[in-house]
Amino acid sequence: MDISYILNELGEERENYFNAIAPPIIQTSNFAFKKVDDLRKAFEDEMAGYLYSRGLNPTVDILRKKLAALDGAEDCLVFSSGAAAIFAGIFANVKSGDHIVSVNAPYTWAQRMFDIILPRFSVSTTYIDGTKIKDWDKATQSNTVLYYLESPNSWDFALQDIKSVAALAKSKSITTFIDNSYCTPLYQRPIEMGIDMTMQTATKYIGGHSDVLGGALCGNHAMMKKIFDSEYLNIGSGIQPFNAWLLIRGLRTLPARLNRISNTTTEVIQFLKQHPKVEGVIFPFDESFPQYQLAKQQMTGACGLFTFILKTGKMESIVKFCESLQHIMMAVSWGGHESLVIPKCSGIDPKHFDPDNREHRYVRMYAGLEEPHYLIADLEQALAKMN
Ligand SMILES: *Cc1c(COP(=O)(O)O)cnc(C)c1O
Repeated sequence: MDISYILNELGEERENYFNAIAPPIIQTSNFAFKKVDDLRKAFEDEMAGYLYSRGLNPTVDILRKKLAALDGAEDCLVFSSGAAAIFAGIFANVKSGDHIVSVNAPYTWAQRMFDIILPRFSVSTTYIDGTKIKDWDKATQSNTVLYYLESPNSWDFALQDIKSVAALAKSKSITTFIDNSYCTPLYQRPIEMGIDMTMQTATKYIGGHSDVLGGALCGNHAMMKKIFDSEYLNIGSGIQPFNAWLLIRGLRTLPARLNRISNTTTEVIQFLKQHPKVEGVIFPFDESFPQYQLAKQQMTGACGLFTFILKTGKMESIVKFCESLQHIMMAVSWGGHESLVIPKCSGIDPKHFDPDNREHRYVRMYAGLEEPHYLIADLEQALAKMN
């Protein structure tokens, strides 16, 4: 399906709402019935029609259709956050006694689920450096039911060979789940590579303006129905109509924003790489990246989020750099209009800061929609203030 069609037309039945260009926000909790028989049918299968907005809602449905098509998936469920989508997707696929193999250091709240919540239900997780296919094989047990991928990882950008991991999982009847937030389906298409379920936080690139949270889960219809009938309805973490409307709005400009951010990222990285106070950059599309070949093979784009390593022996100079930035803000998240940094040392007890550990000198940056020269000038003056 053509991406322009998906973003501008798919799912939008304008003749049903006065030919308005923008879809209505159907801000209702419930839907009325004229016939008892129709009500009975709705009770039998809540995924077949509108009954109550904890289940289906027409505004949310427009978004579901677009996100499923973008992913090349049969169906999509949209949640109130990416974390909620991860929770439902995993929880629906495990039972007591099961085992999960996950990449090292997955997104914080996926890891908390594996480490804190699932062990209460006797579901265990083995973490591996997912870069080598043989490690997936080695970590697999007779009770392994799920492989959890995040490629690229949003902190160290490590990739997994998605096709090979999916093929291995298929040969063992193991379900695969990938966090595809970094690439979005515009730059990486895991379903086509054999992955069963993809998740992306819509809070980042889809929303695009740092004003809404959401999360998408895509897969085949049977899987989405299974999740809808249990976790989606039971937890009640579906997205609200107004937030779905904001995400539809964000989708209109997604390709233009990613394109702009890709160009800016290239310029900012070029500047950082030649700077004497920068030891290096970690970015999948930079030639110095250890998995550059794989990145080029399975991703059609990379942008926005990267890490650079400051050359310094002191935590104070990293602090000085970050606090000297005048336009680039210090905040979590990414994917919005605004550029951001987050230094690794903000998560480290200052007593434990070790300059010999490269990771402690990481600064993760997200390049937003500002002019590249504006960002470079800001970085330059802040680097100059480091001592
Ligand atoms: C932000 C993020 C999430 C979680 O999304 P929320 O919408 O914040 O819940 C999941 N994975 C990655 C890689 C993220 O960056």
